[in-house]
Amino acid sequence: MLIIKDISNLQSYLTAYQNRKYSIGFVPTMGALHKGHGELIKKSKNDNHKTIVSIFVNEKQFNSKEDFNSYPRNKGLDYDFCSDNDVDLLFEPSAEEIYNKDETILKNNNYNNILCDKYRKGHFDGVITVLNKFFSIVKSNKVYFGEKDFQQLKIIEKFIQEKYKFLEIVSVPTKRNEEGIAYSSRNEKLSKKQLQDFVSFHQKVENFLKSLENSFDIEIANQKAKDFIVEQDIEELDYFEFRNNDDLSFNGKVSESRLFYAIYKGKIRLIDNLKI
Ligand code: AMP
Repeated sequence: MLIIKDISNLQSYLTAYQNRKYSIGFVPTMGALHKGHGELIKKSKNDNHKTIVSIFVNEKQFNSKEDFNSYPRNKGLDYDFCSDNDVDLLFEPSAEEIYNKDETILKNNNYNNILCDKYRKGHFDGVITVLNKFFSIVKSNKVYFGEKDFQQLKIIEKFIQEKYKFLEIVSVPTKRNEEGIAYSSRNEKLSKKQLQDFVSFHQKVENFLKSLENSFDIEIANQKAKDFIVEQDIEELDYFEFRNNDDLSFNGKVSESRLFYAIYKGKIRLIDNLKI
């Protein structure tokens, strides 16, 4: 496995791949790799001749310096993880390699003021700003994103339609552990007790979902969601609501929707989304 940190070196390998007419799959990540990332890598390996994974903790998408500084990082394990998963090339640039000193931040205009965009102002501006850089550097055929970050997936789909028509976006279902919670780098920061509480919350959410009829309107399901969530012992909650899969609106039946939530355990923000 190649580990590359600078753009010019990367470009010489990309040119060699292109000369051989290899198809390239790209998996952008922020590291602290887990089985969820592994699913994206597996899919890319299945679809393409070469798979490139990037690891870049993008400061521009964090709302606070504290959150950025405390984001889990484990370089050595990530190298082993990529190598064990037969990644061809790991791109791990520094912030200086990616950004100019006075970098212009792109503005996301899709799916604004709802879900995570409402509670993490500017977060998705940072996401599309870094992807704009990575897409123009890596120029892959396909790029892989997880449904775990569903609003992000929808925003990137629009961004690619608008700006990177050559690129095919592939979405990958959320990988969960045997207790049902989604693998996430942030889970590593939970104490044993916080993790147990989170698992038990998640299981109650799954039972709540089972109690709903497919034919309910999303609006009705949201009334029930409100009743359910006030009964739970949650330290802090950003949102807990059903939204339509296609346009993230409140229109349609619950069968066409997902339940989105963002809750806190201590300072750790946990998000997920579930189909009924
Ligand atoms: P991150 O490193 O958290 O920025 O995630 C990188 C990519 O992995 C994003 O496209 C995420 O949606 C995806 N991802 C994270 N967790 C999971 C999971 N449990 N299952 C599937 N994809 C995931």
